[in-house]
Amino acid sequence: MCIARVEAGNRVGRIVNALAKQGFMAPFGDSPSVGIGGITPGGGIGPLQRTTGLISDNLIELEMVDAKGKVIRANKKNHSDLLWASRGGGGGNFGVYTKYKFKVRRAPAKATVFRITWPWNQFEEVLKVWQRWAPSVNTKLGSELSIGPKKGGNVSMLGLYLGSKKEAIRLLEPIICVGTPSKDIRLLPYTQVVKFMLAPDPILIQKFSNQFSSGFGRRPFPDKAIKIMRKFLEKAEGNTPAGFFFLNWGGAVSRVLPKASAFYWRKAKYYVEWNSSWVKPSNAAKNIALARNTRRKLKPYIVGSYINVPDQGIKHSGPVYYGRNYARLRKVKAKYDPKNVFNNPQSIPPA
Ligand SMILES: Cc1cc2nc3c(=O)[nH]c(=O)nc-3n(C[C@H](O)[C@H](O)[C@H](O)COP(=O)(O)OP(=O)(O)OC[C@H]3O[C@@H](n4cnc5c(N)ncnc54)[C@H](O)[C@@H]3O)c2cc1C
Repeated sequence: MCIARVEAGNRVGRIVNALAKQGFMAPFGDSPSVGIGGITPGGGIGPLQRTTGLISDNLIELEMVDAKGKVIRANKKNHSDLLWASRGGGGGNFGVYTKYKFKVRRAPAKATVFRITWPWNQFEEVLKVWQRWAPSVNTKLGSELSIGPKKGGNVSMLGLYLGSKKEAIRLLEPIICVGTPSKDIRLLPYTQVVKFMLAPDPILIQKFSNQFSSGFGRRPFPDKAIKIMRKFLEKAEGNTPAGFFFLNWGGAVSRVLPKASAFYWRKAKYYVEWNSSWVKPSNAAKNIALARNTRRKLKPYIVGSYINVPDQGIKHSGPVYYGRNYARLRKVKAKYDPKNVFNNPQSIPPA
């Protein structure tokens, strides 16, 4: 097994680029600037997960400083309960992580990346096909589907396939035959694949404020749910990063049992996230309400929520973020931070 030792202050982009240069592959999300410190304990989802598992599924050891300043090393043999809890329990709960040890894999020499875009008004037909196609397509294919606001937005599917361009085109056929997309499909050296997938973050450059919420879909959204999405996208502020985001589930993520790590939501078909976005502070309240009301309306069609995309509008959030792992997480919290020194509005209270 190959191992990467990482200090927790590093950012995801720097880590995966450095590994790729040395011929190794590790999972990443959709942003190079996210810290490995926080993405790891929350789970760490992204387009490689169907092959590699979540970022946290590859965490084999960690070093944490507890509230008394004691350094704790957790792995399969020692403090295995802390390792379990740190694979999905979320940052800011048990102590300050300083080092992570991950298993990494040999990267393929080349892989295929794709960005397919459609006009906004085709989002319903694209989504209907995506929701059936993406969770069941070859697990070497990861797909992120983003749908922007009606004003100024489009539909964009970014992803990768760990294989040839010819095979990628064959696998993509059911989705690229929908509507009138423009297609950019390329076979690239793996070092370039990482750069293509992790372009600089518009959110950081453009200074937008955002209200996110998220959940997991166990079956395709019916028309009623798509209607709720449409209303959200019509009301969301134009020319901002507002929108809906879907990521396909299955493969290595779903092979791990829900209770085997703190990350519970393994059996979904896809992850779904939406965010309102604004620039003027006076527009904050209405945009926050828009994202939260949409959550209330989508409730019949989703389960859970992702702790790394916290929504403080969720009441009694423990079981929503952690499902049936919540009670065990509270016990681990009581052991490692009994006085609740590490806390935030949605942190895990000690049992
Ligand atoms: C632009 C953008 C894109 C994103 N894309 C993805 C994605 O594709 N996939 C995905 O899984 N997530 C994604 N996220 C969510 C991301 O995983 C979380 O925001 C995560 O918490 C970021 O970690 P951080 O270290 O950068 O953040 P911070 O804001 O510094 O920390 C977030 C939380 O983690 C805790 N934390 C951070 N470092 C440590 C540490 N060393 N020890 C203990 N606790 C710590 C903090 O206390 C806090 O509670 C994205 C976020 C953004 C802003």
